[in-house]
Amino acid sequence: MVLLANMGRCVYCDRDSSAEVDHVVPLSANGADDRRNLVPACRECNLGKSDKGLFVWVAELAYRERAKECGASPHGPNGLVWMRDYIDSAFDGVQARIEAVKAELDDEARSTWFFDRYWWLGKNDPVWLWRAWVEPSAAEARAKGYPKLPPPPRMRITRSRLGQLLEPVPPDETP
Ligand SMILES: [Zn+2]
Repeated sequence: MVLLANMGRCVYCDRDSSAEVDHVVPLSANGADDRRNLVPACRECNLGKSDKGLFVWVAELAYRERAKECGASPHGPNGLVWMRDYIDSAFDGVQARIEAVKAELDDEARSTWFFDRYWWLGKNDPVWLWRAWVEPSAAEARAKGYPKLPPPPRMRITRSRLGQLLEPVPPDETP
């Protein structure tokens, strides 16, 4: 379920296919080992993120991407100010995708679909086995709408010490 969320793409770079399941809050930082804390990740991002917190990893990823685009590191005071906006917007994107993944995993029809087909696969079975079984029916699943793209979560912009943050709006809150 987690691997095929976000249309089977890594939630961090939103480019490569998911190959692994990552804990957003690392286990080493007492992150929960349950689906509320799991996202699809590519191998490179999972290795790169390692035990880092979300913001630190997204900042590093955004910095690397930008350095690649520029062909040089965006150093200097102006570069750093400019990088902050770049990092903030990358962080907003990742947070929005993580919220969307949570919504997908909370979708009961979607989890029923997975459970009906893969109830016999265990949490401790290797990921390659999961992929080998789940991948072939992913097309069928998409045709039926599972995994389907969830409606975008309602987000609000707040300001903090780190700059702008996008926060999900609780569903019971009236606009
Ligand atoms: Zn990635």
